[in-house]
Amino acid sequence: AGRVNGKVALVTGGASGIGRGCAERLAQEGAAVIVTDVQDDKGAETLAAITAAGGKGEYLRHDVTDEAAWEAVIAQVRERHGRLDILVNNAGIGIGGPVLEMTLADWRRQTAVNLDGVFLGVKHAIPLMRAGGGGSIVNMSSVAGLKGAPNLAGYCATKGGVRLFTKAVAMECANAKDGIRVNSVHPGIIETPIWLSIINPANSGTNAPPDLDAISSMAVPLGAKGYPEDIANGVLWLASEESRYVTGAELVIDGGLSVR
Ligand code: NAD
Repeated sequence: AGRVNGKVALVTGGASGIGRGCAERLAQEGAAVIVTDVQDDKGAETLAAITAAGGKGEYLRHDVTDEAAWEAVIAQVRERHGRLDILVNNAGIGIGGPVLEMTLADWRRQTAVNLDGVFLGVKHAIPLMRAGGGGSIVNMSSVAGLKGAPNLAGYCATKGGVRLFTKAVAMECANAKDGIRVNSVHPGIIETPIWLSIINPANSGTNAPPDLDAISSMAVPLGAKGYPEDIANGVLWLASEESRYVTGAELVIDGGLSVR
């Protein structure tokens, strides 16, 4: 039996990168995984990979900034599965560049996905989780939610917000009635497509992707970048009963990046 056998999991932003890694890992360990995203083609690829590996799941189009979309997704999960045990609030975007050059529209777009999306997920998932006797929520923050980074001020603001929002909700849910644990995960430098869209200040503000190997060999004590499965293994642990005594915690998975 898998480590989350028979559980029902919802992973936002599950079409790509870390979210896809989490969705595949949870499915390998026996969960039925609802993958949601706004990239339908890549969402279908994630689902195909899950199914090909013998897992169960489905893909739903879902913009995490849209409250009506959250209501529709949770209603479908309730109808088809009758419960929700695991929520991974993973969808996120990164908009880089000097703070003085950031537009209010970009600030708000980033905040809408990274922070409003997590709030709406918590708000709409908890009633269904509670009805099923409890659950585990994992919110994707970042090392950028632990300390500042130049040219990522707006991103740091959202990820720092996710960190403390997580702790506050964990305290509200830490009672026998809810039985819901809420934790944050803080990845370091992980190889995913997000780096293709973050503006790279090291390259004169163009959006050519940074060289993750070069950056990691200098900045990461373990000497290398990480991969989605490194984050997925931590998320799996937080999602499973193995972490039953863990709530309000921040799990840093960064090869030591934040310690240096
Ligand atoms: P990614 O771009 O590969 O995946 C993010 C996914 O979120 C994409 O599939 C995208 O379509 C989806 N998404 C974006 N806006 C959405 C919306 N409004 N509604 C629904 N889905 C939406 O990036 P990733 O690196 O896998 O990032 C996943 C999470 O991990 C993000 O929250 C990111 O901030 C965080 N993170 C990543 C790194 C890293 O180094 N890659 C480090 C720290 C934190």
